[in-house]
Amino acid sequence: MPLLPRRFERLQKVLNRRMSNLTILLENVEKPHNLSAILRTCDAVGVLEAHAVSKTNNTPTFNSTAQGSQKWVKLQSHKKMNEAVSYLKGNGFKLYGTNLGINAIDYRKCDFTGPTAFILGAEKWGLSEEATNMMDKAIFIPMQGMVQSLNVSVATSILLFEAIRQRKVEGLLPEDGEGLDANLYKKTIFEWAYPQVANWCIKQGRKYPELNSKGEITEVLPRTIKLRY
Ligand code: SAM
Repeated sequence: MPLLPRRFERLQKVLNRRMSNLTILLENVEKPHNLSAILRTCDAVGVLEAHAVSKTNNTPTFNSTAQGSQKWVKLQSHKKMNEAVSYLKGNGFKLYGTNLGINAIDYRKCDFTGPTAFILGAEKWGLSEEATNMMDKAIFIPMQGMVQSLNVSVATSILLFEAIRQRKVEGLLPEDGEGLDANLYKKTIFEWAYPQVANWCIKQGRKYPELNSKGEITEVLPRTIKLRY
């Protein structure tokens, strides 16, 4: 079954609002319900890709809390925190480490309109000292209660929604695909529209086929490849 035009329009509408310059990095956040809630928030605010380092190096698992958002927000795994940090810094991100210590700054006093990565720590232990030392700034969300910290997925939501609030005020929220460069847009829309064909192309080491304006593949592919979404 080919991709329905309305489905393609919907994929474009969502991708048009994605941003490659807003992300998160999770250090050893392992609980499926937290990972799921975090990716769901990333999807909601328009994060293109999230990052994670896991102690166990296991494939992350999600549950129904994710509502399928893991299909729409790529979670890139890194083996070590320093590798993830170098990757993000190399791509121009400013790293905001969440930290409940006294030297951290109230997140509302920071400017998240430029390339921004929020770094969040493990459910039990928070951000490691090693990671904390690699951050550009330490930030915190002020707390008034008896419990010292928020759930990690709640903290992620607060920070991401603050980032898009600031970007909206500055007129920086993408509406027409300007949050991604053209090649990344083209690659992502193909992967969203035809994930099985994309996997096949990767295995074959070949370029993705071109799509026409209706989202149809413009070349004839082997009949064994499923076009179905
Ligand atoms: N005992 C840990 C600590 O002292 O850091 C608590 C970890 S907390 C449950 C898990 C993660 O949620 C933290 O590493 C941080 O990323 C985020 N977080 C929770 N409350 C926060 C707050 N008030 N400000 C900023 N980040 C917070």
